[in-house]
Amino acid sequence: MQLPESVASRIKGRILYGEPLKNYTTWRIGGPAEVLVEPASREDVAAILAFVQEKGLPVTVIGNGSNLLVSDRGVKGVVVRIGEALGRVRIAEERIVAESGAKLGRVAAIAQAAGLAGLEFSVGIPATIGGAVTMNAGANGASMADVVEAVRIIDYTRGERILDREELDFRYRWSRLQELQAVGVEVVLKLTPGDPLEIKRRGERHLQKRRLTQPLEFPSAGSVFKNPPGDAAGRLIELAGAKGLRVGDAMVSERHANFIINLGNAGAQDVWRLIRRVQEMVWSKFGVGLDLEVKVLGEDFV
Ligand SMILES: Cc1cc2nc3c(=O)[nH]c(=O)nc-3n(C[C@H](O)[C@H](O)[C@H](O)COP(=O)(O)OP(=O)(O)OC[C@H]3O[C@@H](n4cnc5c(N)ncnc54)[C@H](O)[C@@H]3O)c2cc1C
Repeated sequence: MQLPESVASRIKGRILYGEPLKNYTTWRIGGPAEVLVEPASREDVAAILAFVQEKGLPVTVIGNGSNLLVSDRGVKGVVVRIGEALGRVRIAEERIVAESGAKLGRVAAIAQAAGLAGLEFSVGIPATIGGAVTMNAGANGASMADVVEAVRIIDYTRGERILDREELDFRYRWSRLQELQAVGVEVVLKLTPGDPLEIKRRGERHLQKRRLTQPLEFPSAGSVFKNPPGDAAGRLIELAGAKGLRVGDAMVSERHANFIINLGNAGAQDVWRLIRRVQEMVWSKFGVGLDLEVKVLGEDFV
């Protein structure tokens, strides 16, 4: 499928055909996107959404691909990748207004330099700000829900509107953006004034902890499973004896049992079979069903 010239010429950002999505996921896994669009403005997002709606095409939104398991067979229809092309950031007193493709780390660095505290918990999470809000990404006892004031979205059918904190209905690794047919295009964060050096130190402490506890030298998608209430998925996986378990080049990390690492050439099916195996082992030992934190895209996952 090719976008008609009348649509393509209205989009300022990049348009690619058959682009391997492994280039856009932190697991380095994923087959081709039939069409990949990287919007450079809200108008670009509106234009591509209007086209897919009119034609009834499937549409998939991705951010930095750090929480995604993408099928080796790729994704049909249009993949809208919200990245740094849509990543302008500005400060308005105690608020930061960031287009949703801005990398979370860059937003945190801007906040730190401006003496605005609240994002230190997130240092080291390789997300876009839009992906982080969608997932309610969290660490170190805090999450995006603590700092998000509002999100501007473009609804597939209803156009642009603003959702406030209440409407986003944040829960553990969940926000309403996960069930809406919408693209988050801009995020407003409300932060707290603080000493830039102190903010920096807190962020560095969190980063240091990650370096010691996570296998950051291998491609991964962070924690694969959600923590069951009152417990840690990694603890259960370790006690079930699954650390080091391997399917092809996919392996349960020895350093952090809730990470599945790609040793080189793992495919989505390798990771999927390993996920199933880990779930079975934890179920048979503890009677606990582990739910996925990562999102799966494409068709092969049964
Ligand atoms: C090394 C490593 C460490 C990690 N540590 C943590 C951690 O400490 N805490 C944590 O919570 N997570 C962590 N993660 C997971 C991941 O970084 C988060 O889930 C992050 O929020 C995903 O953001 P993203 O931009 O990569 O989104 P993607 O992975 O691209 O997408 C995630 C979901 O959000 C949707 N989405 C993305 N952008 C938008 C948008 N603009 N509008 C609408 N929907 C959108 C997608 O459709 C998808 O459903 C880690 C991952 C890695 C690789």
